[in-house]
Amino acid sequence: MAEFTMELNDEQKEVRDWLHGFAADVIRPAAAEWDEREETPWPVIQEAAKVGIYSLDFYAQQYFDASGLGIPMAMEELFWGDAGIALSIVGTGLAAVGVLANGTEEQIGTWIPQMYGDATDVKVAAFCSSEPDAGSDVASMRTRAVYDEAKDEWVINGTKTWATNGGIANVHVVVAVVDPDLGSKGHASFIIPPGTPGLAQGQKFKKHGIRASHTAEVVLDHVRVPGSCLLGGKEKLDERLARAREKARKGGERVKNAAMATFEASRPAVGAMAVGTARAAYEVALDYATTREQFGRPIIDNQGVAFQLADMRTQIDAARLLVWRASWMAINGKPFTAAEGSMSKLFASETAKKVTAQAIQILGGNGYTREYPVERMHRDAAIYTIFEGTSEIQRLVIARTLSGMPIR
Ligand SMILES: Cc1cc2nc3c(=O)[nH]c(=O)nc-3n(C[C@H](O)[C@H](O)[C@H](O)COP(=O)(O)OP(=O)(O)OC[C@H]3O[C@@H](n4cnc5c(N)ncnc54)[C@H](O)[C@@H]3O)c2cc1C
Repeated sequence: MAEFTMELNDEQKEVRDWLHGFAADVIRPAAAEWDEREETPWPVIQEAAKVGIYSLDFYAQQYFDASGLGIPMAMEELFWGDAGIALSIVGTGLAAVGVLANGTEEQIGTWIPQMYGDATDVKVAAFCSSEPDAGSDVASMRTRAVYDEAKDEWVINGTKTWATNGGIANVHVVVAVVDPDLGSKGHASFIIPPGTPGLAQGQKFKKHGIRASHTAEVVLDHVRVPGSCLLGGKEKLDERLARAREKARKGGERVKNAAMATFEASRPAVGAMAVGTARAAYEVALDYATTREQFGRPIIDNQGVAFQLADMRTQIDAARLLVWRASWMAINGKPFTAAEGSMSKLFASETAKKVTAQAIQILGGNGYTREYPVERMHRDAAIYTIFEGTSEIQRLVIARTLSGMPIR
């Protein structure tokens, strides 16, 4: 197990500087344009692919860094550039992780390359779990997958919503109910291969922020996929369902298991994205406060402004420390006895919302316009307290984990 460290080593610093260069030279200059266009920034994704930032290999390398700092460092730098474009670059990772976590070696080898494509023909992938009536309450999911034994095919029907890259993805990973009596334990994930009949994009959402990232409904109307598209395979699913039925018969899981390890492990990455956005806004505000003069002196000469900047930086550093701790715990298999992953996401996302609002205040009228980036950053920051579990759900998970009580 690697010791927890707050210092990046030389190799990590090199990667960070390289990513920062890409974020500063390629992502940030394109941010305002793609925010206005509200379209997937394909040319920027292609640039990322050319230099090796848009590939599973790159993220796997960061993930398996035993210090746990590889992924948070990468997310912070890319999202420092711009949240909407960065999500377009890392969004495919959501679906890829779904396959890596549950798929067989053959499924990983077949589908992940098709999710990314290559630098001459980039593709994206989508992970579709949320539904109109199943957001925070995942157990009320309705999309149904039924096995057609005669043909060894699964037939999937339902409507997914809020899917990042939904409908424009080459490969969709869809979570569906296979046993309605088991709640969220009766779910399974399926690959929907490119061009499968019955899958269509529904409404594309016009959003408040991260507008360069495509978000849409995905409608599944009698979608048929071969048995080989069930992630993990039928045998494993049958065993898992049998175990879940047995557990349900015995009275369900203890509430103490409320902090589910997979979410605890993935939430710090979202926290790191929030740290990136917060840091970006803070830097703009600090620069502005030292150069903008009113009453014959820089506005930072006023405690009212200077103390805000002091608080902003303190909270950003605190958020990063929580994120790094949780990432280190995840890679080193430490139990999340206080839901430390949820803590990091909760604190970092709330910090991003607060800090970006303070940045607008410090820039005064300029902060309120699209001439300066903090207005966009504030709109972008609002997503962090919503996706991958809202702030309220993080608090619920933390409180349940700490108390062992079924808090509602
Ligand atoms: C831009 C964007 C991209 C997304 N990308 C994806 C994606 O790629 N794939 C995917 O599957 N999903 C995605 N999501 C969905 C996202 O994860 C959900 O929006 C989120 O989980 C919240 O669900 P909901 O929107 O239905 O809100 P609801 O669950 O309806 O919540 C509404 C409000 O009620 C509160 N609330 C609900 N239950 C409780 C409770 N028990 N206690 C206290 N408060 C509660 C919530 O905190 C929230 O404030 C995305 C969403 C957005 C906006």
